[in-house]
Amino acid sequence: MENSFVAVEQFDRVRRISLDRPQARNAQSQALLDQLDAALEDARSDEQTRVVVLAARGDHFSAGHDLKEAQASRGNFTVEERWAYESLRYFDYCMRIWDFPKPTIAQVQGACVAGGFMLANMCDLVVASEEAYFSDPVTATMGAASLEVLIHPWVMGLRQAKEMLFTGERLGARRAQELGMVNRVVPRADLEAQTLALAGRIAQAPPFAMRLLKRSLNRSVDVQGMRQALSAHFDLHQLSHVSQEYGATVRAGLSSAIAKGAAHGASS
Ligand code: ZN
Repeated sequence: MENSFVAVEQFDRVRRISLDRPQARNAQSQALLDQLDAALEDARSDEQTRVVVLAARGDHFSAGHDLKEAQASRGNFTVEERWAYESLRYFDYCMRIWDFPKPTIAQVQGACVAGGFMLANMCDLVVASEEAYFSDPVTATMGAASLEVLIHPWVMGLRQAKEMLFTGERLGARRAQELGMVNRVVPRADLEAQTLALAGRIAQAPPFAMRLLKRSLNRSVDVQGMRQALSAHFDLHQLSHVSQEYGATVRAGLSSAIAKGAAHGASS
């Protein structure tokens, strides 16, 4: 039997789907991502479920993609193999969350880094605990052009996204709220209850109207070109994976990038 890296709970009309690999700071392995996508598919078709909370067990939301697994199983990927892997598991899986037909809320504590940042920001709302922090040190530590989905400028504004990406520095939960990236910041002890309360309130609304509303709200950024910009960045991100700079990172071992990024809290 396959290990389970995702936990699913139902609270009336709210489904909570939690990353459940706390001993690895919820590093996103292939199995975890496949299970998360399957759990979301199930929530999509479940008639009782009106709102999905995307949470994580343990002290951290997610340290990002599983770089140890990446080094072991994908270190020698061809362009074609990497494209296939990343376009499905990183880009398409993420955009399915963005396009999910029901409201979604990311519940974030601790580190929300790189692939974790990308995942949380696919949700409609973000509730963070006071000590939570967000970062994307991929360019600074690994020589790849950020992440596969460059959602950053769309959720915090262009200038702030540039600063965060150019420096690789952490963004604390309060600052993220000031920038409009995080909806609510709550004490760690209240995180689960307050997120569920918010989800429960949203779940009271008529679900079809909510579905149409979300569609229109997302289209308000689609008409500004968000989807085209994300798609174009994915292509350039793939180019950066075959650069000499990224190649040097792979030859040195992605784990050294993990060590370098530990100061920031890294991973891609
Ligand atoms: Zn990549």
